[in-house]
Amino acid sequence: MGKAVSLEEFREFFLTEVEDAYPEVAETETVPDRLNSRAAEMGCYKLTLPKEYGGYGMSVTDYMPYLEAAAEGPGIGRMLVHTTNGIWRPIHHYGNAEQKAILPLMAEGHSVVAFSLTEMTGGTGRDLKSKACREGETWYLTGEKHLITWADRADWFIIVAASDDRGAQDSLTAFLIPRDTPGFGIDATQHTMGLHGTGHAFLTYDQMAVPDKYRLGEVGQGLEVALFFLDYSRVSLSNSMVGLAQRALDEAVRFSKRRTTFGKPICTRAQIQTHIATMQADIEAARHLVAHAALLCEQGKDFTAQAATAKLFNLNMIGRVTDLSLKVHGGWGYTREAPIERIYRDARGFWFEEGTQEIQQLVVARYVLDKTPDA
Ligand SMILES: Cc1cc2nc3c(=O)[nH]c(=O)nc-3n(C[C@H](O)[C@H](O)[C@H](O)COP(=O)(O)OP(=O)(O)OC[C@H]3O[C@@H](n4cnc5c(N)ncnc54)[C@H](O)[C@@H]3O)c2cc1C
Repeated sequence: MGKAVSLEEFREFFLTEVEDAYPEVAETETVPDRLNSRAAEMGCYKLTLPKEYGGYGMSVTDYMPYLEAAAEGPGIGRMLVHTTNGIWRPIHHYGNAEQKAILPLMAEGHSVVAFSLTEMTGGTGRDLKSKACREGETWYLTGEKHLITWADRADWFIIVAASDDRGAQDSLTAFLIPRDTPGFGIDATQHTMGLHGTGHAFLTYDQMAVPDKYRLGEVGQGLEVALFFLDYSRVSLSNSMVGLAQRALDEAVRFSKRRTTFGKPICTRAQIQTHIATMQADIEAARHLVAHAALLCEQGKDFTAQAATAKLFNLNMIGRVTDLSLKVHGGWGYTREAPIERIYRDARGFWFEEGTQEIQQLVVARYVLDKTPDA
């Protein structure tokens, strides 16, 4: 079972091997087998998984620096770490013994699970349009999903669908279905602006028969299953934003020391130093927000609002930091030779993953209003 490699070795892997693999990843839009094997060897897929399932069992707070380090490299690397160290949680919490048997396979990179919520035709939560109708021991699923990360290579899909027409909190049910389910359409041609190689796809199913044994959690527990995953995942994502923002700052600082105009490196100019200080303050604030949410999560306290707060602040933070870093790089930063070009595109994915700014604002505002007594 062993223990995790050192944080420095881990960071080095993402800044060298994952970085070197990036041109191939961008061209093929897949995870090269060799990269998947190396990531598994580095323990990327089992950092937080409980020891009884072959993981290292790291606590959330111990794990955060590792994910932050992974996020300094190309988006594909942090996505591998972020998703695998999150998706085991709903399976572990709500799954039956057969479903939990997938976890050790995930730990070694032999099995991949995708989380499928977003729809073109529906909103989120109670507004989902996918339907699940039960006849005896079989469910019939009809609907669609899109933007599903790793759908090009996932062996299993968590799918959330409405199991009744009431549109209530308990009207959704979750399923964990195998890729080869007859009637399951997977069209992995949905290519994204950045985060190359992360395999997004459209999913379709029309009266697709799913045995009841593939249900994840109780009937009507689908929203709870989704939120259980999403709350944690928002902390993880917020932490990933800190890592990528740190890389954007590091690139800006390095560039500002080597780029000379009017006989002086640009890092000696007050305007450039102001940009550097602004980025540093933003990243530090973001890191502390994540640490607070991660601690509440680890202590088993309610952290829904703190996770959404971190996601809300950090998605704006990474927008500001990558804008400033690009400005510091001048026109060279806008070319494909400059790492900031890729960082800038990868960073925009964070605006949507695990919910937009507007959705985080709704969650945070609801929390503040609920805890404040009426006047
Ligand atoms: C890189 C990437 C990876 C992703 N991976 C996954 C994945 O693995 N699984 C998955 O299920 N999804 C995934 N998604 C989808 C992502 O979760 C959604 O794109 C996101 O939640 C927004 O939903 P939407 O695209 O339907 O936006 P829409 O709902 O169409 O929103 C459009 C705009 O309207 C606003 N809006 C919508 N509803 C409201 C409202 N009620 N009040 C106020 N404003 C509103 C939104 O904030 C946004 O500005 C991924 C997306 C990206 C970009």
